Amino acid sequence: RLKPGGRRENPFGPGTLTRVIAVTSGKGGVGKSTLTANLAVALAAQGMSVGILDADVYGFSIPGLLGLAPAGIAVKPTRLDDMILPPIAHDVKVISIGMFVEDASVAVAWRGPMLHRTITQFLTDVYFGDLDILLLDLPPGTGDVAISVGQLLPNAEVLVVTTPQSAAADVAVRAGVVARQTGQRILGVVENMAGLPLPDGSVLELFGSGGAAEVAQALSAGQDTPVAVLGEIPLSIALRAGGDVGDPVVAAHPTDPASQAIVALARII
Ligand code: ADP
Repeated sequence: RLKPGGRRENPFGPGTLTRVIAVTSGKGGVGKSTLTANLAVALAAQGMSVGILDADVYGFSIPGLLGLAPAGIAVKPTRLDDMILPPIAHDVKVISIGMFVEDASVAVAWRGPMLHRTITQFLTDVYFGDLDILLLDLPPGTGDVAISVGQLLPNAEVLVVTTPQSAAADVAVRAGVVARQTGQRILGVVENMAGLPLPDGSVLELFGSGGAAEVAQALSAGQDTPVAVLGEIPLSIALRAGGDVGDPVVAAHPTDPASQAIVALARII
């Protein structure tokens, strides 16, 4: 659809029928991208039409996680007229900043306006078709992006990812508060890197426990509806290894405890 003046409309703006879920975290390295990629694959396997918009300028790891970056270089999207066609992996349509940078080893140091323009262009110029769900993988905890998402995607819900550690939980609370200030609804909190199940049946809590509960409690203060912990994803070698080779664990090892936790999360969100 074209707006007057020939510019295309953002199909995910106000009134959209697509559920838009922004996956956020307070800091990097908590597994936000790994969870986004696997959650998308799990949702697609449950019959949903799913897209991922990877605007994590510092990380842009989604293509690699889904096998769309052979030899470390993200595949280039094809074009149809002036539309960009998103590459598809595991039935998930993917667009990533990593598909547009010439040299992935050069750090992308972008300021807010540039990021805003890129997200706007991804929303308007990428042909996703009718999606049930669009997942956004955004840079950790920055105000600039939260404001862009608030403006461009007023219907977006926010899924906050944290580890069990208090330090990660504190910054995750701030990311949630910023998202809420820009008008987004908090869908819930996910604890990633929870206990590692050991062969003898015990569980090793490498990063402690309770981070997500802490975040949910802090974000529930003063709210009519409390914010819930929606899932706990255990530490998993298969999950990490699957990410390294671009073969998402939910598809490659469905019986792995991390896969089961992510599939369960996909069912309830
Ligand atoms: P973020 O997007 O938050 O920066 P990533 O998704 O890139 O984090 O994950 C950081 C690292 O942690 C990756 O190497 C990933 O494979 C690993 N990782 C993420 N979640 C888990 C988990 N549950 N168990 C083991 N390793 C994990």
